[in-house]
Amino acid sequence: MDYVSTRGLAPKLGFEDVLLAGLARDGGLYVPERWPVLSHQEIAGLAGKPFHEVAVEILDPLTGGAIPRVALAAMCKAAYGSFGHAAVTPLVQIAPNQFVLELFHGPTLAFKDVAMRLLARLMDYVLEKRNARATIVGATSGDTGGAAVDAFRDARRADVFILFPDGRVSDVQRRMMTTPDSPHLHALSIAGNFDDCQARVKDLFNNLPFRDRVQLSGINSINWARIAAQVTYYFAAAVTLGAPHRPVSFAVPTGNFGDIFAAYVARQMGLPIERLTIATNSNDILARCVKNGIYETRDVVATSSPSMDIQVSSNFERYLFEASGRDAQCVRQLMNGLKQSGRFELGTSLAAALHGEFCATSADEIAVAATIKRVFEQSGNLLDPHTACAAHAVSMQGCRSVPEIILATAHPAKFPDAMQKIIGLRPALPSRLARLMTDPEHMTQLPNDNRAIETFIAQKTRVLQAAPLGDRA
Ligand SMILES: *Cc1c(COP(=O)(O)O)cnc(C)c1O
Repeated sequence: MDYVSTRGLAPKLGFEDVLLAGLARDGGLYVPERWPVLSHQEIAGLAGKPFHEVAVEILDPLTGGAIPRVALAAMCKAAYGSFGHAAVTPLVQIAPNQFVLELFHGPTLAFKDVAMRLLARLMDYVLEKRNARATIVGATSGDTGGAAVDAFRDARRADVFILFPDGRVSDVQRRMMTTPDSPHLHALSIAGNFDDCQARVKDLFNNLPFRDRVQLSGINSINWARIAAQVTYYFAAAVTLGAPHRPVSFAVPTGNFGDIFAAYVARQMGLPIERLTIATNSNDILARCVKNGIYETRDVVATSSPSMDIQVSSNFERYLFEASGRDAQCVRQLMNGLKQSGRFELGTSLAAALHGEFCATSADEIAVAATIKRVFEQSGNLLDPHTACAAHAVSMQGCRSVPEIILATAHPAKFPDAMQKIIGLRPALPSRLARLMTDPEHMTQLPNDNRAIETFIAQKTRVLQAAPLGDRA
């Protein structure tokens, strides 16, 4: 199967090239040429399987069969073997017909581990096969960076550079990026906010000579493989609660529109999802857009859910491509409008499509705090502030007849200061992370400037060094 760019001006690529490319050369994002569909019977057959086996059944069609099944199965098994829960992504009930899907049992306590651990293995597999190296860059609002640093810790072929906004991530989040001490892992503290970091990464990709020189690859959710790897838990959770025989609903804490787009993909693949809820914090560009059809950026405000403090949701472009009937010219126009004036209007038919596909609710800081307290009192379950945005959205919707699944995207111990302020408790880190808060940190401070960032990467990446392949020093 081939993959096409949402902007229609880049060549079609196979899965391996899409995996290594990240962003398409025309600035667009890759999606499969068509959505694979699982039959009712195939979906029913997922029930009762361990998570890593469900992952293979979903990823095999989504990767167009590009990775031999045996290799894919081995990678899924390795990726999900080190989670702190045998079910990998367990469901916990918090109220009648309301469930929390705990996606935070990976090594860095956020859902990003689920996709990143597989992505790192897929990349190393393809680079090994091609006898090549890559320079991997990523922007993080907090959780992607830690997940990437951990997932690529043992990668043999990749040098990893993570850009994070100086002073805007929690201590736990920062330490997950800065405490691993390996010459191929680089945490870059950038003088700016997350949108600046994301813009710098996009600029690196759009500088085509630099991109080719250092063999640039991306690990943000602009990378198709990450989205694909997130489709897995929608199927796993839904079949546990009776799909495909009965539908379920999902509420998804949303920043870059990656996770919620994975839910949309699951629906395209035949999973019966009744209601899909976009849950945002006070940075509510998506909630406003669902309401009034206008996508308009505002200043980012800092909240207790920093991983969602985002105004430009990159993956929304993938949805616009779908909703417009895969009209790349329409996507290019909208994205140019965004670049030039910070806004675009969906128009009647796109607005209707968006409205038909998703609900959206934003939660301000008061609602987040009230939700954390309420759920704790009613169920004894401690939600982190990101998850609380989704729980708030569900509580606004009233009683439903189908199971409502709230995605828990982070462990509350990842945000101890916020939790202390809200509920007066500092949730303990799992014991496997005991040394995190005392190990020495390694990071480099850089200005919000393309030239400085490119220079640093060029100096450090082993792609430009004559080190023989296979030599890890
Ligand atoms: C990244 C992240 C989100 C947002 O996910 P998107 O795919 O960017 O929408 C939500 N919660 C947590 C804890 C995250 O790390």
